[in-house]
Amino acid sequence: MIDTSPEFMTALKKEIMRKVSTYPNNKQFDLRLAKPDTWVILPYNPSGNETPRVYVCVGEKYALVIDPTDTPFDVRRFIEENVTDKPLLAANTHSHNDHTYANYLFDDCTIYMSEQCQKDLQEMRASGRIKPDLLGNCHISENPGTVIHPGDVIDLGNREIEVIGITPCHAPSSLLFLDRTAGILFTGDEIDPGQINMWNIPVETFRDNMVYLYSRRDEFDMICAPHNGGPVHADILKYFIENCDRVMAGIEGDLDVGSTSYLLNPFENRPAEAIAYRRNDPVTRRSYWKGTAINYNVDLIFNRDLEKPYRRAYPNPPKK
Ligand SMILES: [Zn+2]
Repeated sequence: MIDTSPEFMTALKKEIMRKVSTYPNNKQFDLRLAKPDTWVILPYNPSGNETPRVYVCVGEKYALVIDPTDTPFDVRRFIEENVTDKPLLAANTHSHNDHTYANYLFDDCTIYMSEQCQKDLQEMRASGRIKPDLLGNCHISENPGTVIHPGDVIDLGNREIEVIGITPCHAPSSLLFLDRTAGILFTGDEIDPGQINMWNIPVETFRDNMVYLYSRRDEFDMICAPHNGGPVHADILKYFIENCDRVMAGIEGDLDVGSTSYLLNPFENRPAEAIAYRRNDPVTRRSYWKGTAINYNVDLIFNRDLEKPYRRAYPNPPKK
């Protein structure tokens, strides 16, 4: 009998991470070239897609690090030794800990973020509730953040990154970044090639965002999302729109909204009740279409559905 209980797998994951922490820095990350001067860094984590990807855009003057992530390894050193010697700027797509924890490594740099992201991080610092990283450390960034707004442009030297605002579906603090020079859209978790979880946001709201981004499709051909296998081709927007159209036309998705990795990745520490709940929550459905998946609330298909009473959907079983 092999022990795959969450307790055992969590301990094993910690042990593997501890071992990797004794390896040289350049073995703690994988590096891929997405486009010229555009790098994808995959921080090692036995649980595959759990740690987001770090994207680095190198311009003539500066290099921009998009989301330092929650890797417990020294991603700054990895960038400086393997990617670029240009002065670094950082940016957060949103405030979630798995995207912002390692901001502390960039405390002496400008870290761009939305006003809401700045607020969330301030609150987190004030509360002292810092989630330990996978090595058990609790670092705290002292950088207050530099607020940017949709329409602002970050100039890296002959490389312009426009800040894009949409109606947030994943996190109220979300911003997207459009690299107008290289033709890449960095979406944060507002787009995920694995799935979009829109628990209490209408499908139509997400569709409106996709329609807006698709209206600018001639400015980019690549989408860099943090989890689940980015980068992907920009035409995925078309399939997200079609997916939403199907749901809005009344084609119902599956009751089982768990992704394969959610259900079967033994390193994702989920008790059996959480998995059972996700396979059988009467409020949510999962709609697949051409490589896109959306997990949505059956009471919230259209924007107008927000005006009448609806059941709330929760990612995990509500606490009794
Ligand atoms: Zn997130």
